[in-house]
Order: sequence, then C-alpha cells, then structure tokens
Amino acid sequence: MATNRTKVPRPLARQLFVETGHRCAIPTCRATPLEIAHIVPWHRVQRHDFHNMIVLCPNCHTRFDRGDIDRQAMFRYKELLRLSDPNRVAPDDPSPRAGLIRAYRLFQSEIIKWHKSISELVLAFTFSTGGFPTDNLKSCRTAASITRAATDKLSDLGDEAVAEAANYIFDWYRNWAHDVFDLKPSAFNGAGDNYDDWAQERFMAFVILHEELCAALDLDPTELDFFEAERSRQGLPKVPLGTCGFWETDE
Ligand SMILES: [Zn+2]
Repeated sequence: MATNRTKVPRPLARQLFVETGHRCAIPTCRATPLEIAHIVPWHRVQRHDFHNMIVLCPNCHTRFDRGDIDRQAMFRYKELLRLSDPNRVAPDDPSPRAGLIRAYRLFQSEIIKWHKSISELVLAFTFSTGGFPTDNLKSCRTAASITRAATDKLSDLGDEAVAEAANYIFDWYRNWAHDVFDLKPSAFNGAGDNYDDWAQERFMAFVILHEELCAALDLDPTELDFFEAERSRQGLPKVPLGTCGFWETDE
C-alpha cells in the first residue's frame, strides 16, 4: 500500500456504505464487517472517487486483491449497484419499474407546484380588494390540470391500490382548492382549530401512497426515499418527499 494515502472523507464513506445498504457489495455475499476498496488501486489513482470505490467484506476484499475477482467484474458489481438503486432511476430506463418510479416522482413534484399555487392564491386574495387575481387563478388551474395528468399517469402505471392512494391525494387538494374558490374560511386559515387533523390526513395519504407504491415494486418502504434527504442533512425537520416542507412531523 502506498504511503501518503489520505483518509476517505466521512461523507464519501457514508455514501459508499449506504450504496450497498451497509453490506458487502457482492450480491451473493452481503457479509460484514466492511472495508472500502478502490477498484483501480489507490497507488495508481491517488484519489478517492465514488465511482472507483466499493464496499467489500474482508474476505471479498482479499479475493479481489489476489485477482480471484478481476477489475472488470468489480466494475460490473459497481454498475449493478447503480442500476438496482431505486432512488437513482435513469431518465431513459425503459423498464416498467423505472417508469413507475419516475411517475411517482413526477406526481410529487406536480403536487408541490399545485400546493404552492393554492397557497399563493389564498395569500393574493387576502391582500387584494378585487377578489381573486387573474394570474393566480390561472396558474392554480394550470397546476391542477397538470397534476390531474400526473395522477392519471401514476394510476395507469401502478396497481389499483396505488391509483386509489394517488387519487385520494389529488381529491384532497382539489377539495382544498374548491373551498378556497367558495371562500370557505377554513380554507384560508389552514382549517383553523382542526389544522392538526387536516394536515395529518394529508400526511397519512402520502404515507399510504408510499407504502402501496413500494408494495407494487416489491421494495421495503425504507428502500425508496420518502423523506427529503437534503433537509435532513441540513438538520431541518424531516418532511415527506413531494410535500415541500409545508408541514412537519415528529417521525
Ligand atoms: Zn463479501
């Protein structure tokens, strides 16, 4: 081993461990404890690069160093990790599985936009004297119809339970938007005294959709990102993906 070898930075090490679910990267092994290996050896690259690094158990690491497992095979194992990570679906992956995950993420991002446009409508109305501002109404209607399309797509690709959960969320937002148009006071003050129930109902709908989607994909719900990782890294309270931090939970 070369001298002057720098330590693997902790965030990079964590990323590598998470990539394999804290198990040896060889799918038929999955043993622990773990070591971090460079696929092209350190003495040649002299740098720590995620794409050239992989987590192995001491036994597989030794077999790799001895050449029982060659470098091309190891790069293939690395590639398999990328392909099998449901959170890193390639935009051009034609499999039905990838299509369903992309439809889920699209649904979430459209819900965020719709949520924002309804909130902005509430705010604009509150500060205007002439009713609902036309621009806000227009963007709210556009967001609603795009979300309708995203909901239909997710429903088409998912099973019945996924479709039901996605439509429940769509209806939840449609009801909120209608209550705003109908000038129901509860729609303007976040359902007032009932705010917790109102927010909780929406949160549970996202949980159910996530669980049904993971069941359809034969994934454990923890294998597919549910909470926004970026916020957790910043030390902010966790919020479910697709909800944009509009409410917070203790989970
Ligand atoms: Zn191993």
